Amino acid sequence: MVPAFDGSRNRRTRALLHWKDTVTASTRVDLADQTLDELETLVESLGHRRFHARQIVQWVWKRGVTDPFAMSDLPQTLRESLGTQAVVATPVLLREWQSDDGTRKFMLGLADGRQIESVYIPDTPAQTFCISTQVGCAMGCAFCLTGKMGLVRHLSAGEIAGQVRVLAGATGLREAPFNIVLMGMGEPLHNYDATMRALRLLAAPQGFGMTARRVTLSTVGLVPMLDRLAAEPFMPNLAISLHATTEAQRAAIVPPTKKYSLADILDACRRFPVGRRNRITFEYVMLDGVNDSPEDARRLARLMDGIRGKVNLIPLNEAAGIPFDRPSDARVSTFAGILADRGVVVSVRKSRGRDIRAACGQLIVEGHERRSPAQRLSEAMPS
Ligand code: SAH
Ligand code: SF4
Repeated sequence: MVPAFDGSRNRRTRALLHWKDTVTASTRVDLADQTLDELETLVESLGHRRFHARQIVQWVWKRGVTDPFAMSDLPQTLRESLGTQAVVATPVLLREWQSDDGTRKFMLGLADGRQIESVYIPDTPAQTFCISTQVGCAMGCAFCLTGKMGLVRHLSAGEIAGQVRVLAGATGLREAPFNIVLMGMGEPLHNYDATMRALRLLAAPQGFGMTARRVTLSTVGLVPMLDRLAAEPFMPNLAISLHATTEAQRAAIVPPTKKYSLADILDACRRFPVGRRNRITFEYVMLDGVNDSPEDARRLARLMDGIRGKVNLIPLNEAAGIPFDRPSDARVSTFAGILADRGVVVSVRKSRGRDIRAACGQLIVEGHERRSPAQRLSEAMPS
């Protein structure tokens, strides 16, 4: 229901008419899903000066306030309007696990009862939030627990960025610099518009003021979306989940390869406007006896030719239901050595939070809807 405005002021009555156009009886505007421009328009339509939008951004993002009535430097009448007709939708912190290594995994509840997981990875000097872009994932990579869920639904921009609000509050980092990696549940380029909008929300200077270099987007490599990303004004660091050195090998473990080949993805990477001081990260999950041979390492080094890239080896995080094994440390270091000898920049990812199932590919929420792999793939492919 849309509560009545104080009709004694014409300006505000006009604002109400405009406001009624945008707020249906059952939907309130989510202040945490509005860009600064949109909030300025909203505030103006309510008969107030545009600069109040900046104050709202600060309350929501920097101070973690979700009740418009509590935004004490806004005019009383604006607070009343917002309090009755807007919300600050915030994922609810349902459960938290803390790893021996300091990593914390959070289960968050969404307005429709769905659940997602987000992870805080403490390090020096950088603190990192690993956030989700979808409930589940349609891509069905053979080694990933999230992929086993299938796609339940996309997250909205507010829900993607909202994870950072909740985690920054829970870890006391609202004022501290932190990094964000889009490496939680879901494929960010499959939920392109919401993901990019979330990054714009996070970049607002009155809020977290995230700069692009503090954000890393990890993708399985949906080529048309990679080309779209290449033209974005806010250009996060790019990480490509490669995982294989031949088309057949990749198609067997990363199903989208059937639509976008390894060669297509590497071409898109060659076109990608990587800054001169930057490199594309190529993530390579190592599966014992599948993609971790010395021959694979030599092929991978050749694939890196002509690309400003670096390889991040991720020894598999094993889990029940994942039909692969983690290679031995010796095998990982032989592989890394071959790459390094050929001049490839290479690192081995430390698995953080494995004891609480917070490491890469271990995020899964039970009780999800299941879809067949064929259904998932056809839903996943951008036309
Ligand atoms: N969908 C995106 C981002 C989320 S997955 C992507 O695939 O890039 C983030 C990273 O975790 C990816 O590199 C993915 O390959 C890796 N990952 C998934 N399952 C894993 C597992 N069981 N062990 C180690 N890394 C895994
Ligand atoms: Fe999806 Fe990434 Fe998991 Fe593949 S690895 S299923 S793309 S979340």
